[in-house]
Amino acid sequence: MHNYDIIVAGAGLAGKVAAAVLGTTGYRVACCDPIGNANAGSRNRDNRLTALLKPAMDILRMADVWDAVCDAALPLQSLRVIDSSSGVPGTATSHDFESSDIGEECFGWTVLNSSLHDILDRRISEIDNAVMLHGNGVNRTITRRNDVVCTLSGGGRAFARLLVAADGRNSAVREQVGVSLVKTPGTTSALSFNLHHSTRHDAVATEIYGSGESITLVPFPGADNQNESSVVWVMDSVSANRLNLKDDSEFELRLQEIARGRFGDVVAASARILWPVSGQIALQFGTERVVLVGEAAHVLSPVGAQGFNTTLSDVAVLAASIAKCGQDPGSRQVVGEYSRIRRADALLRLCATDALGSAGTTRSPLIQQARKMCLAALHRNDRMRKRLMTFGMGGPQSVGPLPRTE
Ligand SMILES: Cc1cc2nc3c(=O)[nH]c(=O)nc-3n(C[C@H](O)[C@H](O)[C@H](O)COP(=O)(O)OP(=O)(O)OC[C@H]3O[C@@H](n4cnc5c(N)ncnc54)[C@H](O)[C@@H]3O)c2cc1C
Repeated sequence: MHNYDIIVAGAGLAGKVAAAVLGTTGYRVACCDPIGNANAGSRNRDNRLTALLKPAMDILRMADVWDAVCDAALPLQSLRVIDSSSGVPGTATSHDFESSDIGEECFGWTVLNSSLHDILDRRISEIDNAVMLHGNGVNRTITRRNDVVCTLSGGGRAFARLLVAADGRNSAVREQVGVSLVKTPGTTSALSFNLHHSTRHDAVATEIYGSGESITLVPFPGADNQNESSVVWVMDSVSANRLNLKDDSEFELRLQEIARGRFGDVVAASARILWPVSGQIALQFGTERVVLVGEAAHVLSPVGAQGFNTTLSDVAVLAASIAKCGQDPGSRQVVGEYSRIRRADALLRLCATDALGSAGTTRSPLIQQARKMCLAALHRNDRMRKRLMTFGMGGPQSVGPLPRTE
């Protein structure tokens, strides 16, 4: 039997950030995960890059990891959007969006998920009042007026005043406490993999719209990695499954077709991982003594790079609500305020990324034409272009410094 202030269920990126931020504020935190080793986020398991948007900096500072993340990351100053949906040579359009246009040094940063895991693991191990419990999933949750009791898969029970469910899209804790979900119909899938290309990326992220598919290339950080990008290729699930079965040479041929030589010779440089692209959102983000963060609360389409960034806002609002509402981190005020603020924002982002995803993979020539015209009009109109870039960056808000309990 162990007593903590806060138990975090899940040691994915959401759980580790929550544990690092809340541990840094001085609470006694335990972060538990059924996976039995500290390398849960190793490159073999998660080969993706995350594009961190501007507000991420303030939140990662709360956990004292910003400097390390910044060292491992690449600032993104330019986004190129290409529409080649008609398939007719010479008709593709290309628009560049520059962060300097809105007075920012960059839109955000790209960083390997495995680097983020390593940095957060290191930080949690430095915090005296935080502990990782690998090999311990939460098997059962009982909530009471003054505390929550978790039965752990490794044996034993743990008590806390707040349970943070960060156990992913199929969250067991969410089910254990009876919170339901709504899902958007998922007919598309995303293939993620790393790509070697013979031309340099020059720190430009590229998004290409084809007919019925969109492909995003996010440049790798590191001076030696100018020819590496992380790719997310979205299309209907039947085509994605078929494409995933192709051998490397057929797969690369198909890539060349959509890239039209823009990146020189391309070679797939990692295993491909197939992800379902359906959105989902919990009906509440909190219930007695329990809050939901990350994919346990919301799953967004990878289009628009909002998923983990939305999670960072979850953690920032949770930390701010706890700091504001006094000594009990699981009080009704904390849970109520957190749930109200975060669900509204996540719902907005779910709708926006869903619409963006549908527009990006449409097969309708009429909608493709409208998309092309909208993009050109938005790019031409100074005010609209700047607004769009500010929204895409995660808004102009800053969460500010976090008060510590000590
Ligand atoms: C292809 C792709 C690209 C993406 N790119 C971006 C991007 O550029 N920018 C961005 O912001 N977001 C991006 N995202 C979204 C982002 O990757 C996710 O939001 C994030 O990785 C999910 O983290 P999580 O910790 O919520 O869930 P998970 O990574 O699923 O972690 C959940 C953890 O909970 C553990 N667990 C399971 N059951 C239990 C239990 N009973 N008790 C305790 N623990 C349990 C699991 O073992 C796991 O370690 C992308 C997503 C995809 C699919």
